[in-house]
Amino acid sequence: MMTTIIVKATENCNSNCVYCSVEGKERAVVRMSDKVLETFTERVSGYLAADERRRVNIVWHGGEPLLMGKDFYEKVFEAQQRLAGKNAWRIMNNLQSNILLYNETFEETFEKLGIGYIGTSYEYVEKLRGLGKNVDSELYNRQFFEAALKLKKRKIGLGIIYVVTSKSVNKPVETINLLSNISMNTADMSIRINPIYREGEAKKSELAYLYVTAQEYGHFLGKAFVHWHGRRHIFPQIQPFQGFMDRYLKPGAILTCDEAGICGKTHMGVDALGGIYQCGRAMDAGLLKYGTLFDNDFENVFDNPQKLDLDTRNDVLSKGECGSCRFFDYCHGGCPVDSYNYFDAWHHKTYFCETRKIFFEQYFEPALGVRLERRDI
Ligand code: SF4
Ligand code: SF4
Repeated sequence: MMTTIIVKATENCNSNCVYCSVEGKERAVVRMSDKVLETFTERVSGYLAADERRRVNIVWHGGEPLLMGKDFYEKVFEAQQRLAGKNAWRIMNNLQSNILLYNETFEETFEKLGIGYIGTSYEYVEKLRGLGKNVDSELYNRQFFEAALKLKKRKIGLGIIYVVTSKSVNKPVETINLLSNISMNTADMSIRINPIYREGEAKKSELAYLYVTAQEYGHFLGKAFVHWHGRRHIFPQIQPFQGFMDRYLKPGAILTCDEAGICGKTHMGVDALGGIYQCGRAMDAGLLKYGTLFDNDFENVFDNPQKLDLDTRNDVLSKGECGSCRFFDYCHGGCPVDSYNYFDAWHHKTYFCETRKIFFEQYFEPALGVRLERRDI
């Protein structure tokens, strides 16, 4: 029983990505205080103590989590050891960072926290991701690769998120080739592909030129999949491809949250002030808030009516909009925040429904020579 908790200890960031998921920068100056960290760790510890089967995966997110500095993560370690005691081993710590500020001073602390892998993101299209007002991509690239080298020397792996925009949607093969070459050793890295979402900064009308349609994104994923599938022995693991393959071979194999359809039971998010949300994406959108750490333990959070309502989404969709869809077991109607942002409803199927149909029908099934059949849920 693994619970993933996305923690945004700061919304401040040292980079300037045009499609940043954090809307506005008014929350940027807030940093998690010692009091919030202590209360958060008490909640985690209490949750673990109540059931020995529980595990907690904390993803230190942001903003940019390295801006919190080494001392913050020393306090994290100390609080986990002191408050969780013999259960501290059931806490996993992970980081989602742009890595630009990574340096040797973090090494010892991250080792104590068991951080052997860092989630990051990369953009090869100029002027979309960079430093300062002018979105300096060149400086960004230099700092990114310097940090990646330091992490490699430390044997810390990289999980790279790539956001597909109109600038890259017609380059599926080039994109996964380029990303795969970031590390010489594919075992040290993984890739996650996402479309640009009309959320955060990307909601602004002046960024509409970057949007991709569900159909365009379906063909991007399909072409990238066919290229990857035939060469996967030399490529890193790429999601969602690996998850779909695993699910085909082994019914019930784990999918990422936006395909698994069970995030009401598995995910939570905490902001710098102690606010509790469904996840980081919900937090960014200001949706699905379940109170604060100061008035709720995690048992209360999982009993929150809104969170319980998410659990009914599978049932509603499988009997409704997703009806007899052959791909339901691989999709579950997608992310509820996605459905709310595009259709103003939690129990609507994802805007990217067409993406998944194109992907499975035109690429996945022909490449594997199979036909997916509806499975019982
Ligand atoms: S709301 Fe969406 S992004 Fe958040 S945990 Fe659920 S599926 Fe994942
Ligand atoms: S592909 Fe579309 S219809 Fe099928 S499960 Fe996904 S969202 Fe529902």
